Amino acid sequence: MANADVRVRFCPSPTGNPHVGLVRTALFNWAFARHHQGTMVFRIEDTDAARDSEESYRQLLDSLRWLGLDWDEGPEVGGPHAPYRQSQRMDIYRDVADKLLAGGYAYRCYCTATELDERREAARAAGRPSGYDGTCRDLTAEQRAAYEEEGREAIVRFRMPDEPITFTDLVRGELTFTPDNVPDYGIVRANGAPLYTLVNPVDDALMEITHVLRGEDLLSSTPRQIALYKALIELGIAKSIPAFGHLPYVMGEGNKKLSKRDPQSSLNLYRERGFLPEGLLNYLSLLGWSFSADRDVFTVAEMVEKFDIADVNANPARFDLKKAEAINADHIRMLDVKAFTAACEPWLKAPHANWEPEDFDQAAWEAIAPYAQTRLTVLSDITANVDFLFRKEPVEDEASWQKAMKEGSDALLRTARAKLEAADWTSAESLKNAVLAAGEEHGLKLGKAQAPVRVAVTGRTVGLPLFESLEILGKDRTLARIDAALAKLTA
Ligand code: GLU
Ligand code: ZN
Repeated sequence: MANADVRVRFCPSPTGNPHVGLVRTALFNWAFARHHQGTMVFRIEDTDAARDSEESYRQLLDSLRWLGLDWDEGPEVGGPHAPYRQSQRMDIYRDVADKLLAGGYAYRCYCTATELDERREAARAAGRPSGYDGTCRDLTAEQRAAYEEEGREAIVRFRMPDEPITFTDLVRGELTFTPDNVPDYGIVRANGAPLYTLVNPVDDALMEITHVLRGEDLLSSTPRQIALYKALIELGIAKSIPAFGHLPYVMGEGNKKLSKRDPQSSLNLYRERGFLPEGLLNYLSLLGWSFSADRDVFTVAEMVEKFDIADVNANPARFDLKKAEAINADHIRMLDVKAFTAACEPWLKAPHANWEPEDFDQAAWEAIAPYAQTRLTVLSDITANVDFLFRKEPVEDEASWQKAMKEGSDALLRTARAKLEAADWTSAESLKNAVLAAGEEHGLKLGKAQAPVRVAVTGRTVGLPLFESLEILGKDRTLARIDAALAKLTA
């Protein structure tokens, strides 16, 4: 069912590096918007100058673009509710705060931090609710003047209604919050800086957001925001209250909440290892949602087609790296060979951890690529599979050497070299027959006979199909490597 009136928002604060939880929230909002042919609003909540950074902001945009999650309104694309950075909307918040004060929906609270602490402790000790106790709710003009006279500073506090607040969460069903659990709360600091509690719902109202889909950690904000919304509606600032859906927590190792600081949660890490955007999005979509009972690999388009917020599960989701990798490997296999070849190239042509390209050769790469495609979990695995082609010398892997080079390996290698020299180098079959024949002379089956050849040429005991590899590497380089291995064996 398409509902073009759907307007969702993704509204991160630009702090730190983009993480998995953030991307899952972006993805669910985006998929919901695209499913309904609605509007995806991207807003930057940068009202905390001490923590926000321009670097984080750029990374956020870059990450969303890499993942292919686009937005219809927001930074760089603009839109009817611009600006989309809260730091550029301060006048709006000041104006709304003034209207809330004037309408009696909010009041100035002069309590000091120490007084608040003392009263909270006392309430706790007495077993009473320990939230704000309403001291400044109904100050007279004289009382206010006296506080001001004392030089006290005031925050702006929102007046919560005295009745319970009930709403139907799109994921969790009906929820009720009693007044004891949701006391009056601050919306503007004493220095005049508006808080998340104000700016987030105000912008959602002004930007006409219809569905707020966000992490469960924000569930406790929702009754406050609903109450604020009601005030905004009475003031003519908001049209209606959006629907809310809270996405389940993501658990990491040891069933603890995956935290931003967990290395597993860093988006950049997946990107640097060579996850495909489609593979990562596929996996992240399974954190709280499922495609169908018997299928967990699908394209982004298929997800969009099927995605419904009502199918999101309220239970915590477990982040499973092995599963993420397996799904990514499937997506690598799903690429057509051309796309696969192109996707690997950045890993082969530029230096990175453990990789210093020496003589990259495009033709050899295109010839070997189809053999490598089924072997990768992440794109960066490509180097270990094809490095024998693009390095002057094969890698030296002592364990492989010890495993393959046995008593008599030198004799076998000498025979294999002679037969390979005489073979037809335009046919992998001919190269295989050469090694097969060499093995027969030494009473070895093909598997045993090819092991020393593979290690001599590639440095490793396991790798891509050997005879195709030799053919692509070429006669001269293959024979030279066998010679070098023989020299090492007889030294
Ligand atoms: N800027 C808030 C955050 O990143 C947004 C929360 C919300 O979606 O309401 O946590
Ligand atoms: Zn107070």
